[in-house]
Amino acid sequence: MDEFALIEKFFTRETGSRSDVRLGIGDDAAVTVIGAGFDLVIATDTICVDTHFPLNTEAHAVGHRCLAVNLSDLAAMGAEPLWCTLVLSLPSGDPDWLAAFAEGFFELARRFNVALVGGDTVKGPLAITVAVHGRVRSGQYITRSGAGHAQGIYVTCNPGEAAAGLRCMNDADPSATDEHLIGRFLYPDPRVQEGRSLVGLATAMIDISDGLHVDLTRMLQASHMGADLDIAQIPLSSQLLACMTGESALEIALTGGDDYELCFTVPLEREGELQALLPKWNCRPTRIGQTHVSPEIVWIYNGQVYNVPDTSFRHF
Ligand code: ADP
Ligand code: MG
Repeated sequence: MDEFALIEKFFTRETGSRSDVRLGIGDDAAVTVIGAGFDLVIATDTICVDTHFPLNTEAHAVGHRCLAVNLSDLAAMGAEPLWCTLVLSLPSGDPDWLAAFAEGFFELARRFNVALVGGDTVKGPLAITVAVHGRVRSGQYITRSGAGHAQGIYVTCNPGEAAAGLRCMNDADPSATDEHLIGRFLYPDPRVQEGRSLVGLATAMIDISDGLHVDLTRMLQASHMGADLDIAQIPLSSQLLACMTGESALEIALTGGDDYELCFTVPLEREGELQALLPKWNCRPTRIGQTHVSPEIVWIYNGQVYNVPDTSFRHF
């Protein structure tokens, strides 16, 4: 199958899914309508075989994941996703692989009403780049840098599960617990509605891709804030605790990547407003600490300072 047949067969099928796409796949560029009163929010991320997922990862999950990690970045800005582009570098044009990949991709795209409006397709090592475009009401985006003094620090769902899932992926005989954790790695659930609902309430936000501790530190440093954080408050899931010791579970919750959960700050006196949002959320946020103006970021464990091991992922 040549490149054009491949695009036609697998990727043009859902053009027309949004009325604000004037021109989608098939021309030299896409044209969309961005209404008055909005800011455009743009994010892009690449996932590569071996670096981001093992070679044997099912194509359906790869299709989900390449879009999910991008939607998570928009979620962390409080943005509404609208359109995306897809750049595929493929070692071969295997139709079975592509069919499953497109299925995983479009299932998620439909769920969040994101239209695929263009891309590029080349032969090369397996790597997928998605760019997502979204919008916020003018000026209403949430940055990493807005946290203030004496604000609650929250994390959604259960950090560490995805990293634990990646470790289980090569288990010969996965248990139901392993399956849950592997699912959390393969199918990250971007917290899009949750992120959008925090506009006007969260003062700073980041999504956790490299690990709770490093990403939280990035957000606090961007905000010029320090924090006191309570290890005992980190919500460790029963599945995580079932597959490793409490100590290892803590370490992976702090340093493991790939969770795509949200970490954000809310002024303490507004916690009631956060509680009021939760009936519409798919995940539970947990308050794990509090900001302060002095720059130290301190984790407390059983009354003692806990030094987080520096094992977070770095490409170079
Ligand atoms: P050009 O060479 O003019 O950049 P291409 O031949 O690469 O265009 O692509 C033709 C059309 O198909 C363009 O509209 C492009 O955006 C789209 N396209 C190419 N690859 C993909 C893909 N993987 N997913 C979605 N659209 C794609
Ligand atoms: Mg062209």
